[in-house]
Amino acid sequence: MSAALIGEGASGDQRPGLGHLKPAGADFSHGVALYLDNISVSFDGFKALNGLTLAVDAGELRCVIGPNGAGKTTMMDVVTGKTRPDSGRAFFGQTIDLLALREAEIARAGIGRKFQKPTVFEQLTVFENLELALKADKRVRRSLRWRLSPEQADRVDEILTQIRLLERRDWLAGALSHGQKQWLEIGMLLAQDPAVLLLDEPVAGMTDAETERTAELLLELEGKHSIIVVEHDMAFVAAIARRVTVLHEGSVLAEGRLEQVKADPRVIEVYLGR
Ligand code: ADP
Ligand code: MG
Repeated sequence: MSAALIGEGASGDQRPGLGHLKPAGADFSHGVALYLDNISVSFDGFKALNGLTLAVDAGELRCVIGPNGAGKTTMMDVVTGKTRPDSGRAFFGQTIDLLALREAEIARAGIGRKFQKPTVFEQLTVFENLELALKADKRVRRSLRWRLSPEQADRVDEILTQIRLLERRDWLAGALSHGQKQWLEIGMLLAQDPAVLLLDEPVAGMTDAETERTAELLLELEGKHSIIVVEHDMAFVAAIARRVTVLHEGSVLAEGRLEQVKADPRVIEVYLGR
């Protein structure tokens, strides 16, 4: 299929409750949103990923944990097209071959990524940041006049409520706390309505209260998006954990419920015991 067509037009999936989970072109009919198969990535002979196989379901909230250097960020780099693997396959839904798409095409297809450092526009208000993110979506920009349609304005308010910034809507983003900036950046991703959200250490540097509210936010987003969260904060992981994947030396060491993987002697040895 042509990458240029992805994300344009209405979703072809008419099943109630599932159609909004996927962009046009992505086929989630088997329930899988993201499938990495035997992915390997080498940097100067060092294997950052070594036969990584990972499947994430539509609407699933997945935590990925593991020691520094395990390959967690590299896994996200492969999914988003920033890094090309030496071998393996990567699919978005049943049919979209991620390894055939460029970074911008992957983002447009519906895979959004949040980096650790917030990159909001500090001189703009919270509302204006979200407005910009909405306009960055080609489908919106094409029909955009000088202001948002009532539907788009409603969508911004909905996101503001989700990210707990409705009361801060007219604040300059630069005046927000670190945690609030992180939420705003998540909101800017949500404005583009991604089927898959990748969050790399989203609660790093947050206060305990902000961490708790972030956990609530992610639980609210579960089912609406497939979310992969990489995090070291085990209290946060415990709050949001469903299925947990432990990466070690570029491949999956263990996978299952948090209690299961925490009791796994190999996980204790390489990660939790430290
Ligand atoms: P994690 O996010 O789990 O801490 P990373 O994916 O960042 O791990 O890194 C995995 C390994 O690959 C590390 O040993 C890291 O030093 C190495 N690595 C990552 N990116 C590069 C790169 N661009 N060039 C060289 N080595 C890299
Ligand atoms: Mg990392």
